[in-house]
Amino acid sequence: MGLDEYKSKRDFSSTPEPSEGEGDSSERVFVIQKHDASNLHYDLRLEKDGVLKSWAVPKGVPEKQGVKRLAIQTEDHPLGYRKFEGEIPEEEYGAGTVEIWDEGTIDVMKWKEDKIIFRFHGNKLTDTYVMIRLKDSDKNWLIFKKKK
Ligand code: MN
Repeated sequence: MGLDEYKSKRDFSSTPEPSEGEGDSSERVFVIQKHDASNLHYDLRLEKDGVLKSWAVPKGVPEKQGVKRLAIQTEDHPLGYRKFEGEIPEEEYGAGTVEIWDEGTIDVMKWKEDKIIFRFHGNKLTDTYVMIRLKDSDKNWLIFKKKK
């Protein structure tokens, strides 16, 4: 996907969001940002191939086993976005408040076209999760805690 879509949606002279940005860590990182936009949601971002693969999770990543949540894939974001918190101005894409809900690193056990299995090493999240792309869908995934 790359960052073209991310950049095309934003006016960087207006929004405080980063236009690019290198990671400063050799580990694979993740962030979950609480985004109070037109609809409150949580943006899950996982590092892969030098960008942050991104999903909007309307109800947030489930903390209980047995709960499955919808995760809608969105455009890749630059690695530097994992540190972003602040206000996206009214006229900009995603206008509203962004705050970091959790962050840290991930161990990836599997990353296939339709299935991702990884473990969070965050402040709040520390378990192994599964993401599965819904059949016949480009963008819609489910995320849930892996059974132990
Ligand atoms: Mn968002």
